[in-house]
Amino acid sequence: MTLFEKIIAREIPAQIIYEDEWACAFHDISPQAPIHVLIVPKKAIPRVGEAVAEDQSQLGALLLTAGKVASQLGVNERSTGFRLVINNGVNAGETVPHLHVHLLAGRSLDWPPG
Ligand code: AMP
Repeated sequence: MTLFEKIIAREIPAQIIYEDEWACAFHDISPQAPIHVLIVPKKAIPRVGEAVAEDQSQLGALLLTAGKVASQLGVNERSTGFRLVINNGVNAGETVPHLHVHLLAGRSLDWPPG
């Protein structure tokens, strides 16, 4: 099982704030912004570059979940906002090989990213 599958199975503790049939969202253990949540598909797709056509609904569900979680956290307004990040592979900084979307919010975020 991946680390995130263990969190979804409640074998490893995490601050889970949302869950449905497709996805689970919990606070990142090492937050890089005042709000830093990970949105994780129930299916352990390793990374977005390895997703296949049959994952289309799962991938769509991740973005819909991101919007719901942003609303739940009070940052789904243009005047506040949030950033979604997917790190794919070594150069992007991927450390957990189970696809996940980072939702970052609560401060102004630089662009371009580092
Ligand atoms: P990435 O580097 O894009 O693969 O992101 C992996 C993220 O998982 C990092 O931001 C880590 O801080 C986070 N992380 C690692 N272990 C845990 C954990 N047990 N609970 C919550 N977040 C975690």
